Amino acid sequence: MPKAQETVLEIDLSSLKHNFEYLKSKLQKNTKFLAVVKAFAYGNDADEIAIYLQNLEVDYFAVAYTSEGVALRNAGITKPILVLHPLPAGFDSIIERCLEPSLYNDKVLNEFLEIAAAKKQKNYPIHLKFNTGLNRLGFSEIDIESIYKRLDASKAIKVNSIFSHLAASEDLKEKEFTQYQIRSFKNISEKFKTVFGYQPMLHLSNTSGILNYPEAHLDMVRSGIGLYGFGNSDQENKNFRPIAALKSVISQIHHIEKGETVGYNRAYKSVGFMKTATIPIGHADGIGRQYGKEKGFVVINGHKAHIIGNVCMDMIMVNITDIECEEGDEVIIFDAAHTAENLASAASTISYELITAISQRVKRIIKK
Ligand SMILES: *Cc1c(COP(=O)(O)O)cnc(C)c1O
Repeated sequence: MPKAQETVLEIDLSSLKHNFEYLKSKLQKNTKFLAVVKAFAYGNDADEIAIYLQNLEVDYFAVAYTSEGVALRNAGITKPILVLHPLPAGFDSIIERCLEPSLYNDKVLNEFLEIAAAKKQKNYPIHLKFNTGLNRLGFSEIDIESIYKRLDASKAIKVNSIFSHLAASEDLKEKEFTQYQIRSFKNISEKFKTVFGYQPMLHLSNTSGILNYPEAHLDMVRSGIGLYGFGNSDQENKNFRPIAALKSVISQIHHIEKGETVGYNRAYKSVGFMKTATIPIGHADGIGRQYGKEKGFVVINGHKAHIIGNVCMDMIMVNITDIECEEGDEVIIFDAAHTAENLASAASTISYELITAISQRVKRIIKK
């Protein structure tokens, strides 16, 4: 790659392939793989990533919202797309674009049934979400009979899968709770089979579920963060390759005397002579204010440079007093060595938040 001349997010598809293959190597041969590509494939580029994964052996895609599923269909994705958090306002589009909704409570189930029936659907594929302890979305085990009655009366929709979501699969201190969730889900699936008379596809595991709970792989797994190169532990991170590198350039260097201040609110006060570099990336690009005040840092010519003062909308200023560099030099915000996980943890957050926040203003460059 030539050095960055502006702020860019470079996305390396060969690393994506590596991560996919590593995750697949953890699975039984017949376990299906669902790629979670919500939120622009975690801030990367949903179209490019989904098209690339569609040509590998991905069985399913998932997005959070209906509009994301519509965008994938427009980009040429033909494999099944599960919409994890649809709302009734999007149900027409769901059916028009052959998206598969996750239905999680009576209200959305009833409204989807009504629309599917009005559109004369027969056995339209849907997925039922069950709550096993995350307490976010989902039916309970006791709802199964009443769901059955409604579906049996209508025949407009058919349950393709039932699933649940783990609350703390990355946290081995919560192993007991996760095992409780796994047992609850198994009870739900048995009850479902008794009431409905067939077993739909079962899925429960996100990336850390794949890595830590092989007994919870079931018929399909759902991976997001792992595909993008993070394993949610120092140990597992070694097996993944972050697919994205966020780079920029030094636009200006300042020499600052003792007692001068830098940036808005005069938040940084110089204690002696120093050099600062201004970089064209700010909170509007996804580097939030929590990275300011010397929490976050970038890498310039192999050296750490801390962000000083407040993060501006379109700029950060970093301390380069001890770094040999000049205007126009490349700046690494994160890459495979100085990872998004490192940077995120410096500001007490997680890789998920940092990478999904990289705004659409930042140019994406796909390395094939
Ligand atoms: C986002 C999401 C996932 C993916 O989780 P990762 O930890 O990124 O692998 C899986 N399932 C559901 C329901 C999700 O919302």
